[in-house]
Amino acid sequence: MYIKQSIEQLAPYVPGIQPQMDGHVIKINANENPYPPSPQVQQLLSGFDFAQLRYYPDATSQRLRKLIAAHYQLSSDHLFCGNGSDEIISYLFQVCFEEQDTIATPYPTYTLYKTIADIHRVHTVYVPTRDDFTIDTQALAQTGAKGLFIANPNAQTGLLLSLTEIEELLKQYDGLVVIDEAYIEFAPATASACELVARYPNLVVLRTFSKSYSLCGIRVGYSLANPVLVHALDKCRDSYNVSHLSQLLAEAAFEDQAYLQSTVKKIVATRERVTAALTDLGFEVLPSEANFVLCKPVHGSAIDIYEFLKARHVYVRYFDSPRLSDKLRITIGTDAEMDVLLKYLHEFT
Ligand code: PMP
Repeated sequence: MYIKQSIEQLAPYVPGIQPQMDGHVIKINANENPYPPSPQVQQLLSGFDFAQLRYYPDATSQRLRKLIAAHYQLSSDHLFCGNGSDEIISYLFQVCFEEQDTIATPYPTYTLYKTIADIHRVHTVYVPTRDDFTIDTQALAQTGAKGLFIANPNAQTGLLLSLTEIEELLKQYDGLVVIDEAYIEFAPATASACELVARYPNLVVLRTFSKSYSLCGIRVGYSLANPVLVHALDKCRDSYNVSHLSQLLAEAAFEDQAYLQSTVKKIVATRERVTAALTDLGFEVLPSEANFVLCKPVHGSAIDIYEFLKARHVYVRYFDSPRLSDKLRITIGTDAEMDVLLKYLHEFT
């Protein structure tokens, strides 16, 4: 009775199953990284002075902002840090959209954009991807929406939009363009839109420590955007939105770019091997540039395979939505985990 009608009607975001992790479980349903974070992170934690936790954290994550900004050759007023990139998505709705405004996003994509839009009573126009699941940027621009949310590589498909296509879009569309690069480190280095931020004031690039840095547990994401927008985000954020430990651990991970590159390289090599092996087993597999693959079985149905794997403690993701029906999304794990998966898939077929 105290709850707004718009919230009561809301369909909440549904994450993948979080099974109790023990030695037998293979969890490849949430695009988590199978490797531990940088050893620098562990070192920092073991030498950590816990008395520091009685102080509030740096409210603006200044050191982290400076560190990341320098990496992209930007001034730190282009940088904003959030409690996961999900939090930044929420702030973007607070800052940029009025009730009854419209955003457009491809379909399928990360469903949280619509969930947060609904919370803010902003309409979502889904623009279907083409038959081959590529994103139609022209159609997105032509919706006349006030803002576009594009995950690149796209969530669920792993397909990548080229930088040329993104720049073409920015040339013709002057609403807010959010390019969510949660998985970009698994794509070729030239694919990121970060270098366009200084030139296009309507562009926001979202990044996260959750995937390539193996740190989804600390919840840190960041955005690169023009300083006016960053200032507006700062007005809306929780007073101490990123915890002290999270800031320190993210700094340590970011400084260890060599470790990041080495784990990303392993995951990309495993992804290519798994794509080939799944194809050999008769699956149709989309050519992913992320740390997961979307695939459709030719023998049997996706839901049966999902249940078969789950009974063997292997958790993959099954989506029950029109464009994704009869498909499985499989996160790339270690080579050993993928061998177990492939063995079970072989048994199933
Ligand atoms: N964007 C996309 C496309 C994602 O798939 C995810 C993770 N589910 C996120 C953002 C959220 O990242 P974070 O953990 O930084 O909130």
